[in-house]
Amino acid sequence: MSECIFCKIIKGDIPAKVVYEDEKVIAFEDINPAAPIHILVIPKQHIDCVSKIDEQNSKVLPDVFLAINKVAKKLGIDERGFRVIVNNGAEGGQVVYHLHFHLLGGKTLGSLIV
Ligand code: 5GP
Ligand code: ZN
Repeated sequence: MSECIFCKIIKGDIPAKVVYEDEKVIAFEDINPAAPIHILVIPKQHIDCVSKIDEQNSKVLPDVFLAINKVAKKLGIDERGFRVIVNNGAEGGQVVYHLHFHLLGGKTLGSLIV
């Protein structure tokens, strides 16, 4: 996946403000934040999108959610609350095709979903 921008961030070829990293997951600040806290939490293994999750690659998902909780705690929003969003496919608003979880918080978020 040499063309994938998030794979390049994982490799360190593109800089990012990394807030958490372990063997399977990396989390970094979104370049265009939509909230005071806007972190992208991604598996290091390249998966295009939610629709491409299968029996094998889904094994990384618990690690992603554990990382989300660690990041939320580190940034002080674990008790205050936060939102996790995953866009999937063209009509779902996905722009970068490397599975990523938007972790949003730092203020009271609106109820708008669509
Ligand atoms: P999507 O619309 O695919 O769910 O979200 C992609 C997100 O990636 C957007 O919020 C966008 O701001 C962010 N993004 C795109 N390119 C880069 C980049 O090079 N670095 C960082 N940190 N975020 C990026
Ligand atoms: Zn990738």
